[in-house]
Amino acid sequence: MIKTDVVVVGAGPVGLFAVHQLGIIGLKAEVIDNLDKIGGQCIELYPDKPIYDIPAIPECTGESLTKSLLEQIKPFKANFHLNERVQEVSKEKSDWKIVTSKNKIFVSPNIIIAGGVGSFEPRKFLIKGVEKFENKSIFYSVKNKNNFKNKKVCIFGGGDSALDWAIELSKFSEVTLIHRRNEFRGAEHSATVAKKLHKEGKLKIKTPFQINSIDGEKTLDAITIKSEDGKIEKIKTDFVLGFFGLIMKLGPIADWGLNLEKKTIPVNTENFQTNKKGIFAIGDICSYPGKLKLILSGFHEGALAARACFKIARPNETYRFEYTTTSKSMQERLGVKKSD
Ligand SMILES: Cc1cc2nc3c(=O)[nH]c(=O)nc-3n(C[C@H](O)[C@H](O)[C@H](O)COP(=O)(O)OP(=O)(O)OC[C@H]3O[C@@H](n4cnc5c(N)ncnc54)[C@H](O)[C@@H]3O)c2cc1C
Repeated sequence: MIKTDVVVVGAGPVGLFAVHQLGIIGLKAEVIDNLDKIGGQCIELYPDKPIYDIPAIPECTGESLTKSLLEQIKPFKANFHLNERVQEVSKEKSDWKIVTSKNKIFVSPNIIIAGGVGSFEPRKFLIKGVEKFENKSIFYSVKNKNNFKNKKVCIFGGGDSALDWAIELSKFSEVTLIHRRNEFRGAEHSATVAKKLHKEGKLKIKTPFQINSIDGEKTLDAITIKSEDGKIEKIKTDFVLGFFGLIMKLGPIADWGLNLEKKTIPVNTENFQTNKKGIFAIGDICSYPGKLKLILSGFHEGALAARACFKIARPNETYRFEYTTTSKSMQERLGVKKSD
């Protein structure tokens, strides 16, 4: 069981900056995200795209913004729990009990939900019997490429992930890339490389084909694929990887007894608290009159929610407003040289 001052649900830009605002006033945060990486939409949806409206940063990308935010919160040593969805939230005396999909338990007087548009989930194969092989022989992401070394691997999809992994894994495995269209959606350069490898006999490409069935009792044995004109082919394989993009689901957040309005959480604009004391919502997931779904709005929301968390986590202390420029305690927490 992990005890902390604040559990932050979501490691998108807004959750990250909330860690900063909590850290400078002396509160410890644990951050949980369903994704395998930090950065939320910025990393998952537009890592290379330029952003032009972050205050005082004329231009940055989704990736560089995430890096800078991580750099800025380094002094606070927040723990990140990735690949874990927050499933349950329940009251435990004066605290909240938070349970993740990996059954990790957190106890905290405060929760800041910075869940964006909900948790990102991979789009899955829609065929019978797929669940029993999931995370054993059928995967929707690659955590460690060595698990697929010297094996037969079928990769489905036409985007960047499918192309990139087909190219990468074909260096040491027998890879078949299968896509339902003849044209790939991913980067032109990657599609060209994949086709070149195909010509050289280093990568098999099957288009336009879709998955038809999965064969195997305890372990995966083979799959069949079907072409547009009904032709069926059987492929012996050890692993199947599906890269069909992500869907965003509000997911378990909807079951925590919070008021909801069109898949967002209404909050008051004084401290961004929800209808439950000690549960705050900031960033894209919160709603209030005039809400702008912009990163800069989420930063402001996090600053106010953090101060409200202080009052709940330290009921016997008085919160004092201070500037980082002049506050010795804030500078100590930041680990920077004290100013005179
Ligand atoms: C293409 C594109 C371009 C954009 N350009 C700009 C721009 O130029 N300027 C700008 O200001 N904004 C821009 N935005 C919007 C901006 O990305 C969002 O406002 C911002 O990402 C919101 O941050 P967030 O931290 O609230 O949520 P997100 O970035 O959505 O992060 C939320 C995180 O919470 C996690 N999560 C959700 N539920 C759970 C759960 N139950 N358990 C664990 N984890 C969970 C998710 O996995 C996700 O990682 C753009 C968005 C897109 C899609």
